[in-house]
Amino acid sequence: MDQLKQYWVAQRLDKDLGDPLTPENVMSFKQVVAIDEKEEFPHSEIEWLYNWKLQHYYVPAECGGEFTSFEEFLAFVRVLCRRDQTIGIAFTTLFWSFITWMAGTDEQKQKLAQFIKDENGAMCLGYSEREHGSDLVGGDLTAKKVPGGYILNGEKWPINRATISGISYILAKTDPEGGPKCLTLFMVDKRELNPDNYYNLPKILTHGIRASDMSGIGFKDCFVPDSMRIKEEGDGLEFALKGFQVTRTFCAAFSLGAADTALRTTLNFALNRVVYGKKVIDIPQPRKILVDAFLDILICDCETIGAARGFHVIPEQFSVWASVTKYFVTTQLETMINSVYTVLGSRFYMRDEHDYGIFQKVLRDNSIISMFDGSTVVNLHALILQFRQLTKYRARRKPEAIAKLQKRLETIFSLAKQVPQFEPEKLELFGRGVDDPLQGLEIALQQLEALKETSDVDEDVLVNLMGLGNLILEELNDHDELITNSKFEYGHDQSPELFEIAKKYCILHAATCCLQMWLYNRTILGEFFAKGEWLVLSLHRLLRMIRPLPYSISDAYVANTAEELLKLCKEDKLFSIVPFQLAQSQITEDRPHATSKLQLKA
Ligand SMILES: Cc1cc2nc3c(=O)[nH]c(=O)nc-3n(C[C@H](O)[C@H](O)[C@H](O)COP(=O)(O)OP(=O)(O)OC[C@H]3O[C@@H](n4cnc5c(N)ncnc54)[C@H](O)[C@@H]3O)c2cc1C
Repeated sequence: MDQLKQYWVAQRLDKDLGDPLTPENVMSFKQVVAIDEKEEFPHSEIEWLYNWKLQHYYVPAECGGEFTSFEEFLAFVRVLCRRDQTIGIAFTTLFWSFITWMAGTDEQKQKLAQFIKDENGAMCLGYSEREHGSDLVGGDLTAKKVPGGYILNGEKWPINRATISGISYILAKTDPEGGPKCLTLFMVDKRELNPDNYYNLPKILTHGIRASDMSGIGFKDCFVPDSMRIKEEGDGLEFALKGFQVTRTFCAAFSLGAADTALRTTLNFALNRVVYGKKVIDIPQPRKILVDAFLDILICDCETIGAARGFHVIPEQFSVWASVTKYFVTTQLETMINSVYTVLGSRFYMRDEHDYGIFQKVLRDNSIISMFDGSTVVNLHALILQFRQLTKYRARRKPEAIAKLQKRLETIFSLAKQVPQFEPEKLELFGRGVDDPLQGLEIALQQLEALKETSDVDEDVLVNLMGLGNLILEELNDHDELITNSKFEYGHDQSPELFEIAKKYCILHAATCCLQMWLYNRTILGEFFAKGEWLVLSLHRLLRMIRPLPYSISDAYVANTAEELLKLCKEDKLFSIVPFQLAQSQITEDRPHATSKLQLKA
């Protein structure tokens, strides 16, 4: 596992930030909870990250930065968000720079790279409007063409970092009659505007991420030069949607970080709290909830790490994969956090009783992730519109296409393989019906079958995997039949039933990603991963969401998974399929959650 260089930056960042349970450390739980209470923007913590030079990892190597892969990016955003989503999200608005890396001129790229690297610059995304929410085409902010530039009028709201950022990506209407070509995107550099012609809207008070700069920005007869326009007039919606493919996928990193903390802080409690003469962890029901939570993280890892690598191999398929990841991972982990609170008991609702009250903050902060950057319904809707083509394409797969697909799957899912450089110009608004992970399911099933000949996988595990794998295939075939026989309409009036069908598609997608991840990494991700018991439990867990199955598949597998969870907790390792080393606890005997007191169940 140490050979996986893409995890080194995250590991180093976490080590340098130190144990979050040590109050004096930067971004310790005590500090981030205090920042949240004050509702003041975390300037000094953000500055710490700039001094650490984290911003360089948001700038592609060809623009003089250190960004090399989305897999690496996912890992460090995750460790940032395990401490604090507010700071993680505030810093990661830098990621909107992808619009410029994707569609900007060389001059715009150079300017932005310098702004980020040398001037500690930050940006925000101004798409939403008070009156129009998800309806981007319905927006009212206008840009009227004048010699040398445009005149902006209107407001964007609610916008994260609208006030405390130098660059705003603004989506503006340039042609009210232009249909899908009515919008144009601008990279507005506030430093070059007349300050009399733009203004910031007041801070919005929110349930979570309270210390954020949640505000808005308004323009009044504000001149912006042509040099701030991204690509051509009318191209705004296209690049907005392509940019979303990148950023929506990486919202999963925010959720994964929060999920780690929710589970870890609850474990700290369950390992020490004694009721009825027993530790909570030794009572079957809470232990099962914690194991299920761990499985949820592993499942979401397979979906998200697969997607992060997939961007480098099949960017043209992300109109599908980004929607699946944004919907599935954020909602699955939101539900997971909501179920582990039952184990934490009343302390989940208290603001300073356990681990400095980090759980209640995680619960509040995390609940926005499935909403912003394209809400749950928006992502499911985007998927629904592609179902017909997905189904047609799958029915027509030819042997040559399947052989090529197999090669792509290996590059996507083998973590030891280097991914090619990301080519954003290959992003497409519609994926033409291709979805490699699910359309490669039969290949995965053949690979499972072939494992029967090798002796290194437990026979029981293999039998279970074959059985569950075939159920996934059965469900996928049923899905395709249903779509083929349904009446299809474009537009926004999709039936509620189709939204349920889309949710089911996402579950099948996640299940297949788990299978693919295991098949390609059995020899490199450690003994627990290799054994595959977690995979049997994960597939069973996912399939139980969509069809009746027995409650339990193996108590022994659950016990072994609980043991692994406790081992990772004791060793301060990330709850993940790549459980790299986190900052180590500084044990003091009087600390109730001290790791020296943790007992592994025999
Ligand atoms: C904390 C926070 C941070 C944010 N940060 C930003 C930011 O940085 N930049 C930015 O531009 N915006 C930002 N937003 C705005 C956010 O993206 C919008 O709130 C979101 O797009 C939803 O818009 P809305 O709340 O106006 O709901 P609307 O879009 O008005 O939705 C209203 C209703 O219609 C339903 N609906 C919408 N679309 C569909 C569909 N296709 N099919 C079926 N039903 C549908 C919804 O479910 C909902 O019930 C932020 C919001 C918050 C709360």
